[in-house]
Amino acid sequence: MRYRNTLSMAFKAAIVVLAIFITPCVFGQQPPVKPSGTQVVLLGTGTPGIDPDRSGPATAIVVNGTPYLVDFGPGVVRRAKAAVVDRGIKALEPTNLRVVFVTHLHSDHTVGYPDLIFTPWTVGRRVPLEVYGPKGLKAMTEHLLEAYQVDIETRTNEHGNQRGFPDGHKVNAHEISAGVVYKDANLTVTAFPTKHAMESYGYRFDTPDRSVVITGDTNPTQTTIDACRGCDVLIHEVNTLASLAKRPEFQPFAAKYHTNTAQLAELAGHAKPRLLILYHHSIALRPAVSPLLSSPEELLNEMTARYSGHVVVGHDLDVY
Ligand SMILES: [Zn+2]
Ligand SMILES: [Zn+2]
Repeated sequence: MRYRNTLSMAFKAAIVVLAIFITPCVFGQQPPVKPSGTQVVLLGTGTPGIDPDRSGPATAIVVNGTPYLVDFGPGVVRRAKAAVVDRGIKALEPTNLRVVFVTHLHSDHTVGYPDLIFTPWTVGRRVPLEVYGPKGLKAMTEHLLEAYQVDIETRTNEHGNQRGFPDGHKVNAHEISAGVVYKDANLTVTAFPTKHAMESYGYRFDTPDRSVVITGDTNPTQTTIDACRGCDVLIHEVNTLASLAKRPEFQPFAAKYHTNTAQLAELAGHAKPRLLILYHHSIALRPAVSPLLSSPEELLNEMTARYSGHVVVGHDLDVY
C-alpha cells in the first residue's frame, strides 16, 4: 500500500513537473523576460477573427523604459496592463502609452483607438497621444474625438474627474510618407511602404542595441527585405497554406495583399533576420475557435520545412 502511495505521489509529482514545463510552450508564455535593453512585447497577435486567446494586432517596442506602440487592435490597453501584471514590464503601464505608429487603417488594427485615446486618460495620462500613420489618420482621429464629445465635456467640466488634466485625451495625428518619421534619444523609426489593400507602411526601429522591423499586413515586398537586411528581429504576418486551402473565397484577396508560409520563407531567406517572429497568423491555440485555422505546430512545420533560420510563432504577451 505504501509502495502504491509512493508510486502515486511520484506520478503526481511528475505530472506537476511536466505541467510546469509544458504549459508555457502550449500557451506561448516564455518564462525568461529579457532583463534590459530593447524589448519586443507582443500585445496582440490576432487577425479580424475573434479569438479569446489572441487580441487584435498591437506590438510594443520598449526602449529604456519607454514604450512605442505599433497598431491598436481590439484589446490593446488591457493587453498592455497584462504585460505589466503578468510579465513585469512596468513600462507598459497604460498611462505611459504616448507614441504610436499605425501600419494601416483596417479596423482589425485600429478599433482599439478610442480605448487608447480615452482609457489611459481616465486613469491619469496628462499629455496628448502622438500618433503616426497613413492618410486618413487625421480624419479618423477627428471623428473619434467628435463621437466622444459628451464624455469629454463631462470629464472636463467643473465637476469632471479629469478637469485637472484636460490634455490627456488629445491626439496629435501625423500623416506620414516613407522615410524617417520619428526620432528621439531612444530610437529612430523609419517607415517603408508595404503592399496591402490600402496605403500601408511597415516600420523599422533602430535602438542603441537592436534593429526591429514590423510589417503589418502585406504581400511579400522588396521594401521589407531592404528594411531588414540582416536586422535583429523581423515581425511578419503570415497565413498557412493549410488554412488558405480551406478558405477558397479568401484566396484571391490573400494572394494580392497577404503572405503565405512559402512566400515568407523565401522572403526571409533574402532578408536574413536573426529572429523571425510570426504574427497576424491564421492559427488558433484551441481548435474550437475555428475549424478553418491551423495549429501553431502546423504553422511552424510549414515554415521550418522551407526556412532554416531562427523562426518562432508569436503569441500574445510573448517578450523577445
Ligand atoms: Zn489589413
Ligand atoms: Zn490585419
